[in-house]
Amino acid sequence: MKKNKIQAIRGMKDYLPIDIAFYQRIEQILKQVISSYGFSEIRIPVVEKTSLFERAIGSITDVVEKEMYTFQDRNGDSITLRPEGTAGCARAGIEHGILYHQEQRLWYMGPMFRYERPQKGRYRQFYQIGVEAFGLSGPEIDAELILMTARCWKALGISNHIRLELNSIGSLETRKQYHKILVSLLKNNIHILDKDCKDRIYSNPLRILDSKNPAIQELLINLPPLREYLDSESNHHFLGLCNQLDIAGIPYHINQRLVRGLDYYNRTVFEWTTNSLGAQGTICSGGRYDNLVTELGGHSTPAIGFAIGLERLALLVQHCNLKLQPNRIVDVYLITKGPEKQHLGMLLSEQLRNLLPELKLMNNFCVGKLKKHFARAIKLGARFAIVINTDEIGDEELILKDFLHQTQKKILKTEVYSILASLLDLKLQSPIEDQLH
Ligand code: ATP
Ligand code: MG
Repeated sequence: MKKNKIQAIRGMKDYLPIDIAFYQRIEQILKQVISSYGFSEIRIPVVEKTSLFERAIGSITDVVEKEMYTFQDRNGDSITLRPEGTAGCARAGIEHGILYHQEQRLWYMGPMFRYERPQKGRYRQFYQIGVEAFGLSGPEIDAELILMTARCWKALGISNHIRLELNSIGSLETRKQYHKILVSLLKNNIHILDKDCKDRIYSNPLRILDSKNPAIQELLINLPPLREYLDSESNHHFLGLCNQLDIAGIPYHINQRLVRGLDYYNRTVFEWTTNSLGAQGTICSGGRYDNLVTELGGHSTPAIGFAIGLERLALLVQHCNLKLQPNRIVDVYLITKGPEKQHLGMLLSEQLRNLLPELKLMNNFCVGKLKKHFARAIKLGARFAIVINTDEIGDEELILKDFLHQTQKKILKTEVYSILASLLDLKLQSPIEDQLH
């Protein structure tokens, strides 16, 4: 009897090779930009103690209350699949003593897990690339991170489809004061509030500011903006940041309602959003979190970071920059006609790999008509096919088929290395170096 197929878990998708080639291109560009600012990679575990996220993100937040994948391990300890990367980075920094009295500029990439309703741009396992800068308190680093993201969008060709929203949520003290005003307005209009907002009045009223409910948004028009209550240092910081962005020519939109969903933020918060993807329009979000390291038991360390949702970014790039090509999986497809001559193909491929280490070459091992082999090469996205056609030409001669220009010519085996190096712009390793390695 045929057995049932086992399918992937809802909201967790497979990234097939064809998708990965596109993701790799995007990731390569992002990593290149991030590295150009002197940031280094950190890799942290995918699971952490549940208490880390409860303490860092805050117990009364959507992420911790509703979205975490929390389990007991075999020891009975409560562990959680990470819903974001900042808490883990701060934990690792404290644990290894690399934050105290020093700067750390870090980036990470990997899967995050949130139990949310799956839809386009919202998954239960999704990927983020994130950046965290520890040890700098001035607005310059805030501006630099924003410049870094703007440079990423430019390199990906999506600058015209994405805009920067910026706000300052001040200090904890600022927000406490503001809570009072907000709560009194909400209490006087309790009949307008939906269940979610009612639940939040006493637990986390600030989150009501970014409620999507139109009646609540209308009510909030009467509310004085949070920025009017900023403490003078936060205000100064914010003006400093705006000034730097003005000088750098980065347009921004001050969104008084932007508060962000996680408790650890203070002062600067920002989001890059798009209208091109429908509801899931936030591509990148971040902010300052000067109290998180202390909250997690470390020495006081100012910090700021952001995270980019890679699936949403890929959707946006696909939507508006058709020129960005996926990374090529195969440059050259090598075809040896006749099974008895396969060893010649294998030998030539190994020599090509020795002398052109960057070359992506796939060997064809099956018999069949040349036309079929070419079709396969094209499907793989190969730029060239090389044919060792033992029926027609001697071992010293090869056929080079160029799929881009749709040409075909005979070349000598001795020339093939330099021809490919020049056509594919690859570094040719000298045979002497080759022997040494
Ligand atoms: P949203 O308001 O869309 O739920 P968020 O505020 O929860 O986003 P962050 O915690 O700031 O998101 O995460 C940073 C980025 O990660 C987001 O801007 C988004 O691009 C991406 N992201 C967050 N949750 C998901 C998800 N469930 N699926 C895919 N991408 C996500
Ligand atoms: Mg969310």
